[in-house]
Amino acid sequence: MRLIFLGTGSAFTINSGNYHSNMLLVDDNDSKLLIDCGSDARLSLAELGMNYKDIHHVYISHLHADHAGGLEWLGFTSYFDPTCSQPNLYIHHSLETPLWEKVLSGGMTSLQGSIANLNTYFKVHLIKENEPFKWNKLSLQTVQTMHVMNGFRIVPSFGLIFTANDTKVFITTDTQFAPTQICDFYEWADIIFQDCETTKAPSGVHASYAELLTLSPEIRAKMWLYHYNPGDLPDAKADGFRGFVVKGQVFNFG
Ligand SMILES: [Zn+2]
Ligand SMILES: [Zn+2]
Repeated sequence: MRLIFLGTGSAFTINSGNYHSNMLLVDDNDSKLLIDCGSDARLSLAELGMNYKDIHHVYISHLHADHAGGLEWLGFTSYFDPTCSQPNLYIHHSLETPLWEKVLSGGMTSLQGSIANLNTYFKVHLIKENEPFKWNKLSLQTVQTMHVMNGFRIVPSFGLIFTANDTKVFITTDTQFAPTQICDFYEWADIIFQDCETTKAPSGVHASYAELLTLSPEIRAKMWLYHYNPGDLPDAKADGFRGFVVKGQVFNFG
């Protein structure tokens, strides 16, 4: 089992030589789970010699365009290629309706002579509350993270935890600094992939490098940082982290 970072950038990666923070989880049979399909996905996949034909499984953590903005491309290219079957789409059940009604339906509802819906393009697997989902033989559990507070309501992302060949992995996806809420998963994991904002003008919806520096040395020692901004990066290794993930970096588990 290995995890490949197609990109490690934030939503604002334009012309920085990086791509959105989408990943490919590849099992020992070379089956691939695309973890988030942002609007850069067709380019980041192409850079590794892949295209929509290689993507039969996709997981979406939340609805920002750097995570879901490539789904129209994936849906349409697969639909109009007679050699392709529907990609399997794994999403938390609470995202199903807004994904279609607020993200995809504008471009994808109307086909020549028919009206389409999400099931026209994808084989949809809804993830239940507090229950893991299966991708091939692997069991993955979603972890709701605190991404945006839009006034009085939390708009979450859904991170992932799973055990791959005895390695316990936690991918935060997008999250504010919320160590109290996700400390159990920080403790549990052998390796943590953590959203880390490095801009001097913080958005407020991502954990900043300065905030992450306040975590214990034990947590920092198993933490890889990604989803960072263009520009210079601090010396994460000197600060006790595993480092910043670089585009194309591969992590082998087991
Ligand atoms: Zn993002
Ligand atoms: Zn986001």
